[in-house]
Amino acid sequence: MSSSRYPNNWKELSLELKKKANWTCQKCNRKCIEPGQVIPKDWTVSKRMAYTLQTHHWDRDPSNSSLDNLICVCTGCHLDLHRGYKGNLSNVSEGQLSLF
Ligand SMILES: [Zn+2]
Ligand SMILES: [Zn+2]
Repeated sequence: MSSSRYPNNWKELSLELKKKANWTCQKCNRKCIEPGQVIPKDWTVSKRMAYTLQTHHWDRDPSNSSLDNLICVCTGCHLDLHRGYKGNLSNVSEGQLSLF
């Protein structure tokens, strides 16, 4: 795991960024699930995943948390951003890609 490379305040920082983005993907403008939002019972895990906002590092270096380096994207866009970088999938925030 590479999680130790994340700064100590990563959770807060990531949350702050997602709030600023209004829980909307900065790439495709999909409105994602907000904390505390009630999710319809018929949503599958993959649908919930698709509407989960994640934080991406442009340089794929989780220790570089400068704002220029970060973008909030939905899971699908995040996968797109990582396509072709097979060796680096473990850097995806919270390891959520493993559900796919
Ligand atoms: Zn998106
Ligand atoms: Zn990423």
